[in-house]
Amino acid sequence: MNKNRATIIAGNWKMNKNREETARLLAEMESMLPAGDVKVLLCIPAINIPVARQTLKNDRIILGAENCHWAKSGAFTGEISADMLKSYDITYSIVGHSERRQYFGETDETVNRRALACLESGIHPVICVGENLEQREAGISKDIIKGQIFKGLASFTEKDILDTVIAYEPVWAIGTGKTATDRQAEEICGFIRSLLADMFGRDTARKIPILYGGSMNAANADGLLSMEDIDGGLIGGASLKAADFTKIVEYRIRRL
Ligand code: PEP
Repeated sequence: MNKNRATIIAGNWKMNKNREETARLLAEMESMLPAGDVKVLLCIPAINIPVARQTLKNDRIILGAENCHWAKSGAFTGEISADMLKSYDITYSIVGHSERRQYFGETDETVNRRALACLESGIHPVICVGENLEQREAGISKDIIKGQIFKGLASFTEKDILDTVIAYEPVWAIGTGKTATDRQAEEICGFIRSLLADMFGRDTARKIPILYGGSMNAANADGLLSMEDIDGGLIGGASLKAADFTKIVEYRIRRL
């Protein structure tokens, strides 16, 4: 399957793993990782980036952040700037994860500001969008996603979008064990690509990696990753287990 766009298997460790656990899990993952043309990205708590760097022996695993503030510096207690991330050679950051939207007041506007700050510093934003259960049951998933995409990507240039990764993460599937079916996930990822085509043209839209996230694991990944418009996964729980995560990478490699 050659889709002419990057394939990415990304992990989101959320608020998990202390210093020692980080080193142990990364060493285990690195030793189990199959070779192949898939980008393997682990977005980990920022405090563990230095120990992660010391632990990793090669550059097969790319380290990313879980969030990034829009300001260059200043009075934003608890936040981390793109410049700080760059100084640790971080080249990807999740932006607008549903947990940030749900618990920390993230809006499409702040997602947009964070993403633009990432781009300005040479960091690829992994922008998360997705509807919640109520919205899906009301039949308005696409309206919600459309709003999140248009507002989240406001004022993006073609270069900006080419440096961006989109992750479709239905909120009802995150950490619940309830995965979107292959078809449900493909339908929305295809819809997102059509929105990108409206905004940036079809040729550009074809080059943007769109990931699926939401209870992806070693048992369901193969089907999801076989879909035309799904270019990889953003994986929470299963990225905390070396065997599960590397198995998902292996499935993706086999599909190439
Ligand atoms: C996530 O946190 O982005 C996620 C998809 O989590 P999980 O895989 O645990 O549902």
